[in-house]
Amino acid sequence: MRTACSVRAIEDKVFQGLLLCFMGYVNEYVFMVQARGIQIRENVKNIGAQVLEQVVRGAYSNNGTDYVYDFNMSESDGPPATYLPEGFTYLPSQVCPERLSSMKGRLEVNMSEVSLEDVERLLLQGEPHMAPGGYWKPKDCVPRWKVAILVPFRNRHEHLPILLRHLVPVLKKQRLQFAFYFIEQEGTEPFNRAMLFNVGYKEAMKDLDWDCLVFHDVDHLMENDRNYYGCTDMPRHFAVKLDKYSYMLPYNEFYGGVSGLTVRQFKKINGFPNAFWGWGGEDDDLWNRVRYANYSVSRPHGDQGRYKSIPHHHRGEVQFLGRYSLLRHSKERQKVDGLNNLNYSPIVSRRPLFTNISVSLSRKLAPIADY
Ligand code: UDP
Ligand code: MN
Repeated sequence: MRTACSVRAIEDKVFQGLLLCFMGYVNEYVFMVQARGIQIRENVKNIGAQVLEQVVRGAYSNNGTDYVYDFNMSESDGPPATYLPEGFTYLPSQVCPERLSSMKGRLEVNMSEVSLEDVERLLLQGEPHMAPGGYWKPKDCVPRWKVAILVPFRNRHEHLPILLRHLVPVLKKQRLQFAFYFIEQEGTEPFNRAMLFNVGYKEAMKDLDWDCLVFHDVDHLMENDRNYYGCTDMPRHFAVKLDKYSYMLPYNEFYGGVSGLTVRQFKKINGFPNAFWGWGGEDDDLWNRVRYANYSVSRPHGDQGRYKSIPHHHRGEVQFLGRYSLLRHSKERQKVDGLNNLNYSPIVSRRPLFTNISVSLSRKLAPIADY
């Protein structure tokens, strides 16, 4: 019995040992599985954090989805956009992100005529922060850019309220600090879009230390609110795809419609030329200036650069036939024709939504040897 007992005891011991050993394995296995689980959960957490960080970084960064124009690159190439997730919050002390969740993409375009008074009422309702002249800046973050929107016009008064109705809400969504300057050409000289931009720039800079300038045709309405109207380290061309050109860039060097430069870039190229009287050529000259200053032009990606233009007649505006000979000497003229040879006497008035600058232009206001 004792022996049996002892055998049993031994067997028990063996059994216990095996059990312990087995339990040990089980424990180790359970621990391993647990550890794996934790590791997997950690990994998932890390990946999640990384993805979020990418999204946040992407949304905060400077135009990571854009491309500097490359002659070999197709319009549809480029990295995908990352926008902040719905409900993402940021602090009033932080610089505003560039890709907010409120920027949804495709925009409805309303071209119906409306009076300026109606648009003033519409846009100022419940908006205590807009000062006369249409100055606005976000309160929930620090604006990344202080943008002066410059719009030259003559005989197109009916387009102004349409543009404001369309663009003001977008710029607010993009959390930019902004104001509009409408520069109206008086007198009977041919229209000089470029010189009006130079005047607008000089007047705007008397108001505020703007750091980004957007040169905007009055009849262009963006179709995508992700077309961010801040500047980039390269001069920018916003109006890439126009309905009137079947949404195709008419030619690689096209720089018309809506363009943007930092104040630094604009000064460096001596602004727009003043020598282009009548329709055409001044935007090509600007392109040349930008290239001679060793800049490239950046453009929004894909459909972000789509615009509709308000149909209009040329209303007697003459084509500027001398543009080709001027364009042959862009480089030499750049130094002597632009911000540095410009004189003018404006009449400036503030409206609730914009500053109006009326100016009479003539050739003697921008003296230049004949090129
Ligand atoms: N513009 C204007 N009145 C004119 C000619 C031009 O207001 O008589 C301004 C307006 O901002 C317009 C821009 O200059 O959007 C470009 O002129 P236009 O629209 O005639 O050029 P196109 O669309 O034919 O290139
Ligand atoms: Mn037009």
